[in-house]
Amino acid sequence: ILELVNVSKTFDRLQVLTDCNLRVNKGQTIVLIGPSGSGKSTLLRCINLLEPPTSGGVLFEGREITDDPRGADRLRRNIGMVFQNFELFQHLSAIENIMLAPMKVLGMSRKDAHDVGLELLRKVHIPERADHFPDELSGGQQQRVAIARALAMRPKIMLYDEPTSALDPEMIREVLDVMSDLSQEGMTSVCVTHEMGFARRAADRIIFMEEGRILENAPTEAFFGGDANARAQKFLSQIL
Ligand code: ATP
Ligand code: MG
Repeated sequence: ILELVNVSKTFDRLQVLTDCNLRVNKGQTIVLIGPSGSGKSTLLRCINLLEPPTSGGVLFEGREITDDPRGADRLRRNIGMVFQNFELFQHLSAIENIMLAPMKVLGMSRKDAHDVGLELLRKVHIPERADHFPDELSGGQQQRVAIARALAMRPKIMLYDEPTSALDPEMIREVLDVMSDLSQEGMTSVCVTHEMGFARRAADRIIFMEEGRILENAPTEAFFGGDANARAQKFLSQIL
């Protein structure tokens, strides 16, 4: 469904990504790990062209979209993104956060958007929080609203950038459970996370990055079974 071909990215003179190749098949969950500064967030941002690659190509559903504004729009519309810090609209309630894009972008009626919003809040297990504002919600609840908001656009791919790293331990689980359920239902996902329990449970493949390069791309079982390359093993031993 998505492919990166020799994607490189430089900021000024700093080379942040070098020749990254990645194929994401429909229904797959990919977990991306690597040290701080290795380029994980930049790679995610290149996937939805929040950052245009300096060279190389992004293919969505088999079509090159890197230099095609309409293709890029189509791609962005089909990708949901969830960030470390939730980034909810503070002046909108949980359900209004979810309703906004369907109404504005898809032209959905207020009533239909409200129905969709409630259904999604049920899916992330907090329908009773519909009318609460972000500052009245726990971090785990806010992140689940953020996931529901992304799902409201019916994305074909979800991207997560360290979605649980700003959360207290007791809230991490509830967010990971929602992500696992989505993966199980066949949502194509690319997740930057250091939650290795989640990776083992939900990922089809693990990708290890260092200094802007993809050093390892292996099936989950092989990766944790000791087949990962030495640098990846070392990194794993440091975070486990
Ligand atoms: P972390 O685990 O800390 O989130 P990361 O693997 O996500 O790290 P990136 O955020 O992709 O790493 O950053 C990779 C490198 O690119 C870093 O050296 C960073 O300083 C640099 N970088 C990222 N964004 C920009 C930018 N907009 N302008 C200049 N340099 C940037
Ligand atoms: Mg990052």
